[in-house]
Amino acid sequence: MNFINKVSIASVIAAGSISTAFADARPNILWLFSDDHAFQAIGAYGDRFADMNLTPNLDSIASEGMRFDKCYVGNSICAPSRATLLTGKHSHKNGKIDNRGEFNHDQMQFQKLLRANGYQTAMIGKIHLRGAMQGFDYWEVLQGQGKYENPEFFSEKGKAKYQGHSTDIITDRALNWLSNSRDKTKPFMAMVHYKAPHRNWLPAERFRKRFEKTVFPEPETLFDDYSTRATAAHLQDLSIAKTMSNDKDLKADRWEFRDKLLNKSGLEGKDLVRAKYQEYMRDYLACVAGVDENVGRLLKYLKDNGLEENTVVMYSADQGFYLGEHGWFDKRFMYEESFRTPLLAKWPGVIKPGSVNKDLVQNIDFAETFLDIAQTEIPSDMQGKSLVPIMKGNTPDDWRKSLYYHYYEFPAVHRVLRHEGITTGRYKLIRFYGRSVPKGEEWELYDLERDKNEVRNEYSNPEYASTIEKLKKGLQDLRDEYEVVDIPQTVNKKRKKKK
Ligand code: CA
Repeated sequence: MNFINKVSIASVIAAGSISTAFADARPNILWLFSDDHAFQAIGAYGDRFADMNLTPNLDSIASEGMRFDKCYVGNSICAPSRATLLTGKHSHKNGKIDNRGEFNHDQMQFQKLLRANGYQTAMIGKIHLRGAMQGFDYWEVLQGQGKYENPEFFSEKGKAKYQGHSTDIITDRALNWLSNSRDKTKPFMAMVHYKAPHRNWLPAERFRKRFEKTVFPEPETLFDDYSTRATAAHLQDLSIAKTMSNDKDLKADRWEFRDKLLNKSGLEGKDLVRAKYQEYMRDYLACVAGVDENVGRLLKYLKDNGLEENTVVMYSADQGFYLGEHGWFDKRFMYEESFRTPLLAKWPGVIKPGSVNKDLVQNIDFAETFLDIAQTEIPSDMQGKSLVPIMKGNTPDDWRKSLYYHYYEFPAVHRVLRHEGITTGRYKLIRFYGRSVPKGEEWELYDLERDKNEVRNEYSNPEYASTIEKLKKGLQDLRDEYEVVDIPQTVNKKRKKKK
């Protein structure tokens, strides 16, 4: 057994085809990741907050590198997205389909290969996968969702609690590893994962009042009536109007001005939704400002230590988020705001500064991209594609023309029905299925060229009949390509007991 292990590691190292003389020249990778950070809340994306200069450091990654405009996730929810990040596989393949089940850490993950190939690997911050991490020289992660204030971390040494705001502390821990703990003779791959700006959007005290007087533009669909949609949008429980609580979410129980504004002012109906939206944005964007400031600290570290030229810096989030679009917060749906996720990358001398890419890319691509950057062989069962050719400005001719999506977590909090779908960039076909879906199946079709806000479901419009037929075939082709298997729905055990 021992012998086999040695042989397999040796072959892995050999497969990297790196002679040790050149090993040090391989680039470092600094992977910056946040939780629920919508692309709309990054200035570089030019969305409705763009002229407010909310994210100067993140914007600098875009201006010195590449902004990916069509980066999507395969399953828009926290833990499954992270499992895909590490494995390069869709949820049904890595086994982590929702936030509840266990993640099998023993399976192949890209960092194990990087480490075996001479990289120093580290994971610091929120991973949201229970159990000990594998393949990292150093890991120190929040437990579960983790806490914004005085967070507790979990590592090989046990638990440690730090005083302060989680965004600052995660950066402190990362800088500590980069400065003091890593083997500086090897290239590094460091994953720095923020908890912010996850619900309940609690900023560090110094950012709390930053947007007190700011009035944020509303999304065009704040009062979407879902009139053309199937059942799911009517059944959801993630609206600002009904789901977002004044106390728990908007902290009216903590801050007196919120209590006055939301609980005691007599506001109701649309006026109350508008007021809640503004307070939501004030907290959410203050959390984003904290992430941006801390990204600035890491970028400065690279610059001050002569690491800037040979480090690939990438920024993304585990999925997008509704910032009031369709009247919602949270994620899960295949509609653009949660299906899309930000992706920014800078790589001096390789990525042309200020470039914008519009190819369809997905979080299944990240693991292979890291391996490719590190000149390490990519396992054949990973399901994505390396983004390195795109970063170099040479999108392969046979690059994918469609993407697959599958959301599983129902019945569950926020009541979003199970669905899968295909997007071609222009068209999006969604199939809701299973429990609580009338007749077991419902479809929606959106034409994003004519309807960028996705408010007109065209599934029953005869004009789109042939498009729908093609998309259904395309969806089946993607299911075949990714070897999608049907996964039975289970009922949350706690709920079952209550009934
Ligand atoms: Ca998330």
